[in-house]
Amino acid sequence: MPKLLEAGILYVSEDFHTAAHICACGCGQKVRTPLGPTEWTVRNDTRGPTLRPSVGNWQLPCKSHYLITNGNVQWSNQWTEQQICAGRQKEHARRTEYYEARKPQVSWWRQLLDLVRQKLGL
Ligand SMILES: [Zn+2]
Repeated sequence: MPKLLEAGILYVSEDFHTAAHICACGCGQKVRTPLGPTEWTVRNDTRGPTLRPSVGNWQLPCKSHYLITNGNVQWSNQWTEQQICAGRQKEHARRTEYYEARKPQVSWWRQLLDLVRQKLGL
């Protein structure tokens, strides 16, 4: 990942599971988007990179919101405080769901065994 980023380029570091670019609005701020199953994903084809979900720079003064699709910037509506809040909650729920689904499950026979043990007073 270079220290100085050039505007209009999406930098992807697979080693650090992150992508970075200069904010598309032209404010010059560096925007980092972590990559992963619960974070952003980058798909690259001949037309250019596609970054999903959208980039919402709520923490920057410009508060810009856009999608990068096939190397092009598609502007999205600026979100209200409420929408930002709802978006964060959705993101949190998505993460929780992802990690919950990966927790080791107690299998049904194990539960049955425990039940039998209880009945038999073991
Ligand atoms: Zn900006």
